[in-house]
Amino acid sequence: MHTDHFDPRRQLRAAGLRVTAPRVAVLDVVVAQPHSDADRVTAAVRERLGSVSTQAVYDVLRACVGAGLLRRIEPAGSAARYETRTGDNHHHLVCRSCGTVVDVDCVVGSAPCLEPSDAHGFAIDEAEVVFWGLCPDCSPSARGGVE
Ligand SMILES: [Zn+2]
Ligand SMILES: [Zn+2]
Repeated sequence: MHTDHFDPRRQLRAAGLRVTAPRVAVLDVVVAQPHSDADRVTAAVRERLGSVSTQAVYDVLRACVGAGLLRRIEPAGSAARYETRTGDNHHHLVCRSCGTVVDVDCVVGSAPCLEPSDAHGFAIDEAEVVFWGLCPDCSPSARGGVE
């Protein structure tokens, strides 16, 4: 899963954040398990560091999102998910049944990759699309899907 050479310590320093064990652990966890929600991140961080308060993990997540190290996505009806793949404005497929989230590349490297028919004067920097459906594991038959 380590395809993007994400180095938490270097990323934290580059973002002007102090390098702390909880911050490194949170980033490591999200690199290894993209689209984890805060509960899953907290559980995995505890496996590494022992006792870490839920609040501490939330604080780290918020600081990292604010610094642009993490992207927060929030599929409707689902807990917020976090990922280290920021800035490319990719989109997501979400399984209605099991909640699996999968990345969908759009126009990688430029954002937004969708243009509204009328921007109403907004300076738009992001377009977020969530495709809902059933993942292969949850779909009784693959027929009828988009090819
Ligand atoms: Zn599924
Ligand atoms: Zn993603």
